[in-house]
Amino acid sequence: MLGFGSKKSKEPQSQELNTEFLLSAIVDGVVLVGQDNTIHLFSPAASSISGWAVKEAVGLDYRSVLIITDEHGQAYPPDLHPFAQALKTHSTVKDSRGLLSTKSGKLVPISLIVSPVVEDVDKMTTGVLGVLRDITSERVEENRRSEFVSTASHEMRTPIAAIEGYLSLALNPKVAMVDNRGRNLLEKAHTATKHLSALFVDLLTSAKAEDGRLASYPKVIELGEALEQIADASRFPAQKKGLELKFVLSGGNDVRGGKVVRPLFYVYVDPNRIREVLQNLVDNALKYTNEGSVTIALTGDASVVQVQIRDTGMGIPEEDIPHLFQKFYRVDNSMTRSIGGTGLGLFIGKKIVELYNGRIWVESQVGKGSTFFINLPRLTTEQALQIQKNEASTLSPLGNS
Ligand code: ADP
Repeated sequence: MLGFGSKKSKEPQSQELNTEFLLSAIVDGVVLVGQDNTIHLFSPAASSISGWAVKEAVGLDYRSVLIITDEHGQAYPPDLHPFAQALKTHSTVKDSRGLLSTKSGKLVPISLIVSPVVEDVDKMTTGVLGVLRDITSERVEENRRSEFVSTASHEMRTPIAAIEGYLSLALNPKVAMVDNRGRNLLEKAHTATKHLSALFVDLLTSAKAEDGRLASYPKVIELGEALEQIADASRFPAQKKGLELKFVLSGGNDVRGGKVVRPLFYVYVDPNRIREVLQNLVDNALKYTNEGSVTIALTGDASVVQVQIRDTGMGIPEEDIPHLFQKFYRVDNSMTRSIGGTGLGLFIGKKIVELYNGRIWVESQVGKGSTFFINLPRLTTEQALQIQKNEASTLSPLGNS
């Protein structure tokens, strides 16, 4: 089953020495974990980051050595541990938000990339290789930068809010008398100020997303319910534009007690953050579609939940697609020029989706429409209930006693 350490092929002695020498020269920690969850290799750097001696760590279950917590010191649910996910999905998992709880209990910010290891002989995944880096100094620098951006944005938002308020007052006929020309000019100033204010909010969010400091309070949510609320809230703006808004749920209905119940799509995300992302996709679909429909679809398989936001709008040229999720990127044509936007929504959306080990992408055809996809790791109902139970017991005073 497991190739590591087994003497399948006899390695020359010098090769083994070189590997050890090379490992000790790598400043990032390297940890090799087998399908049996035990640590097979633990580099000196992994030892100095974690506080576990190499000899102690090798042979232990990785879950007792590499305890990773979120920024509130709450241990990651077992299934969402990056090593568990890489072992389960046989794909690369990245995480730079976690804190490693060292042997002495100190929390160290780390960036972690865990990739599957494929055995040459049979092309089977035999385990995963994690590369971990202590990012304490980067965090200090990020904190400084983020503090500067937050202070600057905050300072600038205050006078902008005042200007917006005064312009509203000036436009109120009960407060001020303005002729039609003046009103026209004030309305333009008011619209521009609102845009500027939205830009500052997005700027602040994107600066935080870039620094990995976006506040995130993940919990178990049922995505079907969240999407239904978004669909309900978007029905009126869709109607106003003469567009049909559809909500489609698929992915295998369950039959329980003779009754067909809709599938439940549990994910572990911050409900407010994910709502922000989904709402932006639906708003965009409505914004960039003049006729036809916008469809919100939810589907999935055992391990993935997939959201699709489809529209029959203007579509996106092929050459723009690779840049779409970059900061401030907007497709430049006469229609987009006349539609307001900051070009930050998709950038922020991608950062948020990646925070939860998800993926976002788009398929589009000019003149026909676009479909934005989001894939998120799916929790089984049992996992969802277990996490909720654990959370409830840590929150309740009885659970703490
Ligand atoms: P914003 O909409 O505020 O400009 P986003 O980051 O949300 O910023 O979107 C970036 C750009 O992607 C938009 O300016 C637009 O050119 C394009 N875009 C996004 N969604 C759609 C869509 N559904 N149809 C066509 N173009 C889109």
